[in-house]
Amino acid sequence: MQTVLFHETIFGPIHSRRLGTSLGINLMPRDGKVCSFDCLYCEAGYNAQGNGTTGIPRHAEVKKQLSAKLKQLKAEGVNIDVITFSGNGEPTLHPEFKTIVHDTLTLRNHYFPEAKVCVLSNATMASRPSVAEALKMVDCNILKLDSAIYRTFKRLNRPVSPNVLPEGIIDDLKQFDGRCIVQTMMVRGEHDGEPVDNTTDEEIDALIAAYTEIRPQEVMLYTIDRPTPERNLQKISPEEMQRIAARIEAAGIKVQVNA
Ligand code: SF4
Repeated sequence: MQTVLFHETIFGPIHSRRLGTSLGINLMPRDGKVCSFDCLYCEAGYNAQGNGTTGIPRHAEVKKQLSAKLKQLKAEGVNIDVITFSGNGEPTLHPEFKTIVHDTLTLRNHYFPEAKVCVLSNATMASRPSVAEALKMVDCNILKLDSAIYRTFKRLNRPVSPNVLPEGIIDDLKQFDGRCIVQTMMVRGEHDGEPVDNTTDEEIDALIAAYTEIRPQEVMLYTIDRPTPERNLQKISPEEMQRIAARIEAAGIKVQVNA
């Protein structure tokens, strides 16, 4: 199994194909993974690897490290396009997420006022008021929806709680009144002998219906770029990605393709 963990709380800057030059913030352990999903394609590996030994960083430590890194980058003349919450799991699970977002916006305004603050989230915590408030404060509120059909959602994203359903995620995304970007991983393959495919006509129709309800600023479509813990997954070709994007755009939804 391929496992790529971020071994620091503040990491990068790295080049992100979707976001540009990105300084990352990992609010999860530095030697393990914590997530409310367990996606077959997760670049951090499966949850079964465990949550490590370091624990999660407190907000004062994140603030201190981020401030030092931004100061250093400024002094070196290194520019960044974005500060991104991602890393070894789901950032909104951090109990001090809203405070940390507030600190990050303050530091961004001081050191790199042109940079955006983005959160990559699986949206499972978006029903929690403090998380929703924090997500409304950032520049790019990027929330995952890979399938609107339960069978595929369960096989591909493998939510830890059986109570997490695509309908609930879609309802939670609607609360942002369009101030969100929906990211969808397009993939097909199999896991434990069962097919997994969110590129079928049925899947795309269900996603279009969900996007139409959510009314996001845009949909980010992407596909596999690196080795995945489930080896039997296929990258979708650029031509097929464009065909899927065209169907979604025909429904009046803006799409960005990263293939
Ligand atoms: S939601 Fe993100 S971090 Fe969590 S398992 Fe899926 S890809 Fe990995």
